[in-house]
Amino acid sequence: MSIATARAGVAKLRQMLTSSRRTVVFTGAGISTESGIPDFRSPGGIWSKYRPIDFQDFMTSEAARRESWRRKFATHETVAGAEPNHGHLAIAELVRRGTVSAVITQNIDGLHQASGVRKDRVIELHGNTTYAHCLNCRREYDLDPIRKAFLANQTLPVCGACGGLIKTATVSFGQAMPEAEMRRSKEEALACDLFLAIGSSLVVYPAAGFPALAKDSGATLVIVNREPTGLDDLADLVINAEIGPALGAATDTSR
Ligand code: NAD
Repeated sequence: MSIATARAGVAKLRQMLTSSRRTVVFTGAGISTESGIPDFRSPGGIWSKYRPIDFQDFMTSEAARRESWRRKFATHETVAGAEPNHGHLAIAELVRRGTVSAVITQNIDGLHQASGVRKDRVIELHGNTTYAHCLNCRREYDLDPIRKAFLANQTLPVCGACGGLIKTATVSFGQAMPEAEMRRSKEEALACDLFLAIGSSLVVYPAAGFPALAKDSGATLVIVNREPTGLDDLADLVINAEIGPALGAATDTSR
């Protein structure tokens, strides 16, 4: 896509955002790369380094749990030290204006909340990696003590309350999707008049089903992504551009 085409797309998006009465923002790993967190599928992304650990393996194999925590703490600093970028801030501004009913995210880094979007407006489809919880009783745990014990002697955490396995509060491959978040996302997709999919390759299902659902029920679908996605053919507008500058310009929040 030429720069001129992307610019025209951004101008169009600006108008759409102004006339929308109910917008849903849907984000993927691409919105956080400008904060220094690699995505999954770009060159150098997480998948070029690791094959994901399946949930069943985590549950049944101590070696898989150890490898899972090793990976977590190998990348912990990147996520723990990341700050919201222009893309997150532009979305936070749209939420402040009052026309965005929900930010549905596949991300697990907590950066939408850190950018000022109220917690109850963010729907985390794949959970959150900034804390851990017991898979049995759901008690939540800070990562710091778990990290210290793991790095000291590879200790695997177990729940102090019920003895259950502790895992980061993310949804792994093979793990059930969170019911309440799935239900709310569906309601939001059905109720919006503008659905904005940002920084996602739109190939991970069921999350990638929401843009299509919104479009089918009459919403305008806009995709902002550096490269083509699995759903470009469905979209009313596709902007192939860097997210921070594109959203900054579309919301007048660039600096
Ligand atoms: P993905 O890696 O499949 O797709 C990301 C897309 O964003 C790519 O198409 C890439 O071209 C585009 N992109 C990257 N940086 C961009 C930029 N600055 N401007 C414009 N486009 C950019 O990610 P996905 O679709 O979200 O699916 C992968 C899964 O990975 C999700 O389930 C998510 O939970 C998980 N994940 C999350 C994080 C995070 O929380 N930050 C990071 C990596 C992976």
